[in-house]
Amino acid sequence: MTASAPITQDVLTLPRKLPEGGKINIVGLTRDQLRAALIAAGTPEKQAKMRLGQIWQWVYHFGIRDFSQMTNLGKDYRALLDEKFEIAVPEVVSRQISADGTRKYLVRIAGGHEVETVYIPEENRGTLCISSQVGCTLTCSFCHTGTQKLVRNLTAGEIVGQVMLARDDLGEWPVPGEPKDETRLVSNVVLMGMGEPLYNFEAVRDAMKVVMDNEGLTLSRRRITLSTSGVVPEIARTAEEIGCLLAVSFHATTDEVRDRLVPINKRWNIETLLAALRDYPRLSNSERITFEYVMLKGVNDSDADARRLVKLIAGIPAKINLIPFNEWPGAPYQRSDWERIEAFADIVYKAGYASPIRTPRGEDIMAACGQLKSATERARKSAKDIAAEAGL
Ligand code: SAH
Ligand code: SF4
Repeated sequence: MTASAPITQDVLTLPRKLPEGGKINIVGLTRDQLRAALIAAGTPEKQAKMRLGQIWQWVYHFGIRDFSQMTNLGKDYRALLDEKFEIAVPEVVSRQISADGTRKYLVRIAGGHEVETVYIPEENRGTLCISSQVGCTLTCSFCHTGTQKLVRNLTAGEIVGQVMLARDDLGEWPVPGEPKDETRLVSNVVLMGMGEPLYNFEAVRDAMKVVMDNEGLTLSRRRITLSTSGVVPEIARTAEEIGCLLAVSFHATTDEVRDRLVPINKRWNIETLLAALRDYPRLSNSERITFEYVMLKGVNDSDADARRLVKLIAGIPAKINLIPFNEWPGAPYQRSDWERIEAFADIVYKAGYASPIRTPRGEDIMAACGQLKSATERARKSAKDIAAEAGL
């Protein structure tokens, strides 16, 4: 971890409201849900389809938050909408920008809870890493989020809202009447922030439906990657009901080590997990699965591990993403040496798998993989407790 201070940290005081009592938040409703809500609010059924299309475009294509700006709707109808609905995204409490351009947003959701969202700019594209839960019920021993108890699941609106607030900050909404700029700053979304997305399945699914809708945020299902620690019963459902790309936090090649690193392995072990993964590409009609593998010095990084890994996944179309361990205060592990990571990558590569080593981004602002943790639940476990849980 780099010791340097963040380049900028500015507290934004944007006039965004948390949902007010009584009003329905449009953000996060699927098309069907919004249509039903519009009818319930008094929209004549015959007009509902058209109104839905108009509102959808204002909210998700143009990023408009105020009904009075929806100029193709009548004045009375706008007043009705304003009375019954709101267009609310979570509030950005602070924004930090790393030396490498990575942006980390601390986002406040209803109830005063906080999650983190990270934007990683790359050449001609950018990836937004979003959270699905405040904290996590799982306790992977190398993950900072895992030291924070689950506070609650995010709603679909709070998940979609993270994409919208990033576009606000990056100035990425097209202006009505002006030519559209085709460069996408947020070109990809990864569900790799705080939380286990498959333990909040319905909200994640509905949010991704909105994000993938081709008349709004228009990110195709191949630009969305959901990362799971291995919630086996929900994997087939992810293929069928979301159809996005899948990444799996694999991290170990024996059940003994995986039990310690990713404790959900005690429930669904490597064999069970691999069986579910084998079916995913066919069910989701996607090319390959990303196996995430965090490189922990002396724990899972030997040549024998690399060989076991390629043997285990034989037959599954896959890419292996090697993640050098990102340290956090009190972490009971160290990052593998660079030569070790390269030797591991080499074995995997020679076995015929792409094996990119993920360059840590935003480390100086604690925005890299596994470093996210909000202060919502302040009673962090002590370094001693964490080490004990990891069996060290
Ligand atoms: N809960 C989901 C998604 C969030 S984590 C999951 O576990 O898959 C995104 C990735 O970062 C996961 O592969 C996770 O295991 C990994 N990760 C967690 N802590 C890390 C750390 N300290 N250094 C590097 N990667 C880490
Ligand atoms: Fe939760 Fe994922 Fe961290 Fe494990 S790695 S504790 S599942 S966020």
